[in-house]
Amino acid sequence: MVLILAEHTATGTFKKKALEAVQYGAQIASKMGTEAVALVIGSGEGNAAELGAYGVQKVLQVTDARLKDFNARAYTKAIVAAAEKIGAKVIVASHDQVGLQVAPRVAMRLNAGIIAGAIGFPELANGGFTVRKAVFAGKAFADVSLTTDVKVLTLMANTFPVQKGEGSATVEKLDVAFDDKDFGVKVQSTQVVSGTVPLSEAELVVSGGRGMKGPENWGALEDLASALGASLACSRPVADSHWRPHNEHVGQTGGTIRPNLYIAAGISGAIQHLAGVNGSKTIVVINKDPEAPFFKAADYGVVGDVLEILPRLTEAVKKFKAAQ
Ligand SMILES: Cc1cc2nc3c(=O)[nH]c(=O)nc-3n(C[C@H](O)[C@H](O)[C@H](O)COP(=O)(O)OP(=O)(O)OC[C@H]3O[C@@H](n4cnc5c(N)ncnc54)[C@H](O)[C@@H]3O)c2cc1C
Repeated sequence: MVLILAEHTATGTFKKKALEAVQYGAQIASKMGTEAVALVIGSGEGNAAELGAYGVQKVLQVTDARLKDFNARAYTKAIVAAAEKIGAKVIVASHDQVGLQVAPRVAMRLNAGIIAGAIGFPELANGGFTVRKAVFAGKAFADVSLTTDVKVLTLMANTFPVQKGEGSATVEKLDVAFDDKDFGVKVQSTQVVSGTVPLSEAELVVSGGRGMKGPENWGALEDLASALGASLACSRPVADSHWRPHNEHVGQTGGTIRPNLYIAAGISGAIQHLAGVNGSKTIVVINKDPEAPFFKAADYGVVGDVLEILPRLTEAVKKFKAAQ
């Protein structure tokens, strides 16, 4: 059996990366000739049955008012309880803040091997279980084999396109014997970023670096993002200088994104920045320095001044869209 943790927002909407994980886990189950079950943890919001359209026939739901906020210890207990109930041999979670906190804990409890940041399906030939993951900040791949009875995988977001199918899943309640110690960490406040698609889920991203010269020039990036329907990101010095909020900072110490299109304007392409973005399917770099390291990672490059190029690009996108 394959168990998949399906995360949802506070209002009960399943995140795109959760649907991707559910679909991925369901496909692994079918390769293994077994079944997949999704696990939904929370205070009861949302419509868990809709996960049936992403490949699972059954959803286990752990509901407790105290699970309104994420809690690594309580989530671990719930996942282990669900895994033991169904006899899960593979457990899948998203490679995000939740997955990164619970997957190692679950692996430790179940004596399981773990692959964090999977970007491929397991190779199952000759009874093996080998999964590809990115290493060295995305500069290389490693094919990692797990030989433990139970295996835990976290899946990088935007690795596979999500395709909604038909059907709805049966939802079964799972009682977990939580105690107060499981909720020792209390969330004091939550700030939800509103407006655009969360960066981790964005398919199009327009990003600015120090070459933008100052926050007063961000309008040019915002115009391009709005013409494309893209989300905004930035390099770390930009967030450190308070030109942009920290939730937009991508890289080794910021968010990791894998959009279909990443447009980098005035960003040098330091290794720490690339660590967060080089999983992007197509990278476009605009930089006035033809020797900027980012050009080595780029699919398309424009050598020029961002403040001249961006408005022209926005104009071209608008014209193209108007002609569609
Ligand atoms: C431990 C550690 C962790 C780090 N984590 C991160 C991280 O998560 N994310 C991150 O981004 N950085 C991170 N950094 C910082 C990283 O090393 C770089 O310093 C940073 O990415 C540089 O940001 P930048 O490219 O915006 O600025 P710069 O390095 O100053 O580059 C600006 C670029 O803009 C170009 N430019 C200038 N003017 C124009 C113009 N008018 N038109 C076009 N191009 C122009 C320049 O040619 C240059 O290439 C980290 C560093 C360390 C040591």
